This record gives sequence, structure tokens and C-alpha cells, in this order.
Amino acid sequence: MPDHPENRRQSVPVNVGGVTVGGPAPVVVQSMTNTDTADEVATAVQVADLARAGSELVRITVNSEEAAATVPAIRRRLDDMGVAVPLVGDFHFNGHKLLSRYPDCAAALAKFRINPGNVGKGKRRDPQFATMIDIARDLDKPVRIGVNWGSLDQELLARMMDDNARLPEPADPARVMKSAVVRSALESAEKAEELGLPHDRIILSCKMSVVQDLITVYRDLADRCDYPLHLGLTEAGMGSKGIVASSAALAVLLQEGIGDTIRISLTPEPGESRTREVVVAQELLQTMGMRAFTPLVTACPGCGRTTSTFFQELAEQIQRHVRERMPQWRKEYPGVENMTLAVMGCVVNGPGESRQANIGISLPGTGEKPVAPVYEDGEKTVTLKGEHIAEDFKNIVEDYVVRRYGKATAAQSSR
Ligand code: SF4
Repeated sequence: MPDHPENRRQSVPVNVGGVTVGGPAPVVVQSMTNTDTADEVATAVQVADLARAGSELVRITVNSEEAAATVPAIRRRLDDMGVAVPLVGDFHFNGHKLLSRYPDCAAALAKFRINPGNVGKGKRRDPQFATMIDIARDLDKPVRIGVNWGSLDQELLARMMDDNARLPEPADPARVMKSAVVRSALESAEKAEELGLPHDRIILSCKMSVVQDLITVYRDLADRCDYPLHLGLTEAGMGSKGIVASSAALAVLLQEGIGDTIRISLTPEPGESRTREVVVAQELLQTMGMRAFTPLVTACPGCGRTTSTFFQELAEQIQRHVRERMPQWRKEYPGVENMTLAVMGCVVNGPGESRQANIGISLPGTGEKPVAPVYEDGEKTVTLKGEHIAEDFKNIVEDYVVRRYGKATAAQSSR
């Protein structure tokens, strides 16, 4: 599976605590906690959950003295748990003070995220920005200059609006605002480099909350620099709305070769795991054919030919089984993430789709003979029937994984 489209924009690779963002590296999945960072245990547990779900970088907010003081303990706790995921510190308003007063916090973080719109106002802005950049430079930490539509530098925007108003034919104010977002990121990066932060220690993002605006802004940004770009639709929302909006925006950009790291900013539904945003990010990259993380299950939507919910339950069980088994499989069976499975509801498309997958099962539709043919690599191998179809199918999947991907392990260990 290719790591990225052939037309991928060339960016300068940036090392973030051992994870490469940009250059030829695959698009990196990141996420963010929603715990109080001052709560060491809750934050470490959530970071570990996100990392185990596949997040390759995890951002935590560092918003207070208590949070900054806790960051080194979170890092130690994660190391003790065997979770090496790099931590990114998210700073707003008081970042200059926290990074200066808590050097162990600065040292424990693999990257600082600085929002140029929330660095300080008036005369304080430049020195406060410089303090954070100086610390990053001295500790050799990369920085993400993360502009956010909702906290755009108002002084810059006002200047650009005034300049625009003086033009004989002023541009649409919405266009000026989008230009201000890009300019804020590029000018901040330029200032950071003037302060001595190396070019290959900078990542940019310009998060917007409207899909078309995000696409416009990132196309512009991509044309005007070679810094790696972090993609994300801000305030994407809950549930299907958040997933659809994020996927729509990011898919267009990724397809154009734009984007080196992504985050899906989902608002969790009550009781929903924070790891959902990681799963969605992985599924987006995998369904676009850019990376493989976990075997995907193809399932038909069901229709009037399936009057029971059995096939939906089986598809869900198999997807869950695969996710649960992946941490172990990943270690023992390299390449298993590329496996494809199909769970189909009747004979109309069942056998055809099942043959296309590595393993597929075509369940009986209403009025059909109560048997379920199983296909492995395009060939029918067995027909299941009776009450234990789900268990039998899971066993077939397990055997297939050992047979097909165990060979790679055996070949590697005999070298
Ligand atoms: S495979 Fe069968 S059950 Fe599934 S959507 Fe098609 S016709 Fe309906």
C-alpha cells in the first residue's frame, strides 16, 4: 500500500521525539487529551489509551502552573507503562511564563504548539513569542505554529482589513480573513527562524471550522512554504457530522498531496471513548489507500433481503475482534494490517464481494438455504451452518492470519 499519493507536496522532514513528520514519512496520526493535565494519573491513562489505539503523537494542554508542574510526572508514568509516544504541549496566553518557570516541563515535551493569536497583545506579543521560541531553540524542540480561525491575531487582521479598505477595488472581507490566517502562520514562522529556530524545527497549521475555507487556506499555505503541514478541521463537531466534515475536508487535501500529519477534532458523545478520533483518522488514511493500520471489514448495508440483524452483528463482532487482536497480531504477523475481510448479507453480492477479500463470508438472506459459504483468497473453502457461525468464522480468520502472515515472521527469524 503506498504511503501517500505520488503528487505529494515536498516538505522538509521534522523529527518530533523520534517520529518524522513531513518529507517522505507517512502521514502521522495525532490526537489530543481532554483530561485536566494537572491530574497526572487521568492524563497518563488517557495518553496511553490514545497511543495504544494508534496515535503517534499526543497533545496535552499546558494551561496552568499545576499542569506544567505535572508534565514531567506524566512523562515518567508513561515511560514506566512502556508508552513511548511523544507528548506535545499546547500553549496559549501564558506559555512564555510556564516554559520559563518549568524547565522540566519544557524538557519532557517533544514539541510545543504555539498559537500566534494567543501569544499576547500589543508590545508584549513579540517578546512573549520570542521567549517560547528561544526555549524551543535552546532545547532543540520543534514547534507547531498553529493558527486557529477562532483565535486569529486580531491586530494583524485589523491591519489587513484597513489596507484592503484603502484599495481602489477592495477584496471580499472573507478573502482577506483567509489571507490573514495564512499570513499569521508564515510571518510567525519567519520570526521564529529570525530568532534562530532552524527551518526543520517548524510545522504549520491553519485550522478552520468550515470545510471549503480549510481547503482554500491549506492550498494557499502549501503553495507558499515547504514546512510540514498539520491538517485538522477545528470544531468539527459530534458524531457523524464531525466525522463527515473532517473526512470531506482532509480527504480533498490529502488527495492533492497536502498534509503531513492529521488530527480529527471530534467532540466525544457522552460516554464515548476519546480514542474514536484516532480510529477515524486511521480509517480515513486507510480507506484512501495511504496507510494500513488494521484489517478493514467490508460489509453490505443490508436491505429487504436480510430480515435478521445477524449479519450486522457478525460484521460488528469481526471488526471488534480484529481491533482487539491487532496489538498481538502486529507483533507476530507483519503485514496483517493489509488483510481485508467481507461480511455480506445474501447471495446477490455476497459471493462476489467475498471473493475480492482475503476472507469473506456470505450469509443467508431471507428465504435462502441457511448456509454461509466462506471464501479465502478467492476460493470457496468451507460452508458454515448451525448456531456457531460467528465463532467458526473467527477461528477461520485466526487460522488464516497464522498461515498467511506467520510465514513472514518465520522467514525473518530464520535470517
Ligand atoms: S448483499 Fe444482499 S443483503 Fe446485502 S445489500 Fe446486497 S442484496 Fe441486500
